[in-house]
Amino acid sequence: MVEAPNFEVYAVRYATREARRGEHFYGHDPHDGPMPMDYFVWAAASPDHTVVVDTGFTAEVAARRGREHLRRPAEGLEALGIDCARVPYVVLTHLHYDHVGNLEDFPAAIFVVQEEEMAFWTGRYAGREQFRTLIETDDVLYLVRENFRGRLRFVAGSREIVPGVEVHRTGGHSAGLQVVRVKTGRGNVVLASDATHFYANIEEDRPYSIVSHLAQMYGAFDLVLALADSPDHVVPGHDPLVMQRFPPAREGLEGVAVRIA
Ligand SMILES: [Zn+2]
Repeated sequence: MVEAPNFEVYAVRYATREARRGEHFYGHDPHDGPMPMDYFVWAAASPDHTVVVDTGFTAEVAARRGREHLRRPAEGLEALGIDCARVPYVVLTHLHYDHVGNLEDFPAAIFVVQEEEMAFWTGRYAGREQFRTLIETDDVLYLVRENFRGRLRFVAGSREIVPGVEVHRTGGHSAGLQVVRVKTGRGNVVLASDATHFYANIEEDRPYSIVSHLAQMYGAFDLVLALADSPDHVVPGHDPLVMQRFPPAREGLEGVAVRIA
């Protein structure tokens, strides 16, 4: 059998906001202080395949929600040489507003979602206040519409998307949150998305404050650590440290995109 070639993995930072430490941990944090939050999309690329992970939010949504929008996610991806109009697969880790805006920037893509995540946001509890504020109605409606055009790939649990890229359902932070494991030249990297917003969540075993199922958030930490070759192979979903721990993806992309593997 021919080995699947290794992927390169990138994180593109598209927005940021000032925040407090107390916002980022479930329950009380006795040591409150500034703890800013970055917003990312990710890409895994090999000679044969390109998979984008999440699509960020728009400048309009950023203004409405008080986030600082730095660039269109597609613009950051295109700086890496990715042609968004032709990307064949976009994994949507979950449907919260900061992960599934700008879907029309990927007109050729199949959107990979967990069945449970779509069911939740089209179901009984989606409209209750603590949940509905986490999504943009238009994003969910877009996916419902595109499903009738055959553009959604539903996963229930784990699945290989292309050789070397797999998704795995964790739940916890949202009903059907999924993470992405990528085979790279330095081993198996896990794009954890909001299974761990910050390195601190998983390292200190302290779930994030926005919860769908608390026990599953702990389960998500366990699964992410089991899937990654080491804790250093885990990429959190919102930590500004990602931009410091990894080198710029290309010359001139300092502060815009880093190469994770
Ligand atoms: Zn998020």
